[in-house]
Amino acid sequence: KKIALIMGTRPEAIKMAPIVYALKQRSNDIDTVVIATAQHRQMLDQVLSLFNIVPDIDLDLMRPNQSLNDLTCSVLQLMQKTLEDVKLDLLMVQGDTTTVFAASVAAFYLKIPVAHVEAGLRSHDLYNPFPEEANRRLTSVLAQIHLAPTPLAKEKLLNEGANEENIFVTGNTVVDAMSTLLDVPFSFQGSPIENLPLSQHRVILVTSHRRESHGEDLKNTCLALKEIVQRFQDVMVIYPVHLNPNVRKTVMEILSDVERIALTEPVDYLCFLNLMRNAYLIVTDSGGVQEEAPTLKKPLLVLRKLTERPEAFNAGLSKIIGTSTQKIVDEISLLLTDDKAYQAMIGINPFGDGKASERIAELVCRWAKNQKPLLPS
Ligand code: UDP
Repeated sequence: KKIALIMGTRPEAIKMAPIVYALKQRSNDIDTVVIATAQHRQMLDQVLSLFNIVPDIDLDLMRPNQSLNDLTCSVLQLMQKTLEDVKLDLLMVQGDTTTVFAASVAAFYLKIPVAHVEAGLRSHDLYNPFPEEANRRLTSVLAQIHLAPTPLAKEKLLNEGANEENIFVTGNTVVDAMSTLLDVPFSFQGSPIENLPLSQHRVILVTSHRRESHGEDLKNTCLALKEIVQRFQDVMVIYPVHLNPNVRKTVMEILSDVERIALTEPVDYLCFLNLMRNAYLIVTDSGGVQEEAPTLKKPLLVLRKLTERPEAFNAGLSKIIGTSTQKIVDEISLLLTDDKAYQAMIGINPFGDGKASERIAELVCRWAKNQKPLLPS
């Protein structure tokens, strides 16, 4: 049987890589094909090279100023041909990008079954995050196999009428990717962090680049960070800034040349993991980082009004703080000054045990052999 995994962006590659490894170990049963759409060329390639994955098929469809409609059309067109050539038995997609949705439609029209990794995340606001919430809901409609990372994600799928027999709780594969990489010996030498005096400061690691944050919200966040370093002399902010020009313009305007704020290029995943490991506190609007911070036992402040990953929040390990400057300053200040509040945000990671990709590979193999999947859900 032939199974393809498709990936377009950095987080998809991070979360698919352990599944690629697990499937390749089962090469007697399964032929594994990796397809890259390269929706985000540079950041995808960073991760692929870190995991030594060379796509079997690279659609290379990123174009400057590409609209979501253009991107969707390109995926549909190129996937039609690819899927006809490759003769797949199953297409695996991960997450909520336009690659995921469009590739799922292309497979569906050709009656190729789709397995959705990280299924069942919901913010319950169709426009937040945009377009991800719609992408993930639409993909759930098209998928035959729903690989839910947590029991809560399974519950959300059941509430929407998905067939329980096709939902499997596996854990999130990001925990698998992290545990592999955290064992790799690492030094910041040669990275953009090389000359930063990390050990003399409490480091606040920041990422913010979601579409909903562009403009006023991002500006508020930047103003808050500036106030924090002025107020706390032992604090250093490290902010790898996304390549999106809308993000870079706002961030550079407010934070360039502020003492103890280091703006860097996006760093590779191994470097970012080690930055998280070294951080005192993590502040983000990213989805994946909301899973990674609790895995590393780092308190997390989420720069959003809602989240599709409430597990960390429900466990008290993160706070959803929005983007008012005052609120951000208050919440960061609290964690810098109140050790009890800080310690209360350290606990057991609710996103998985590092064995999700093994479970997924096992399940897909059984499916491929036409046996009923036996994974407890
Ligand atoms: N990340 C990275 N380098 C950076 C910033 C983030 O490797 O400079 C990683 C981060 O650890 C997480 C993923 O990229 O795994 C998050 O990507 P992004 O925020 O673009 O997407 P989301 O998770 O919100 O879908």
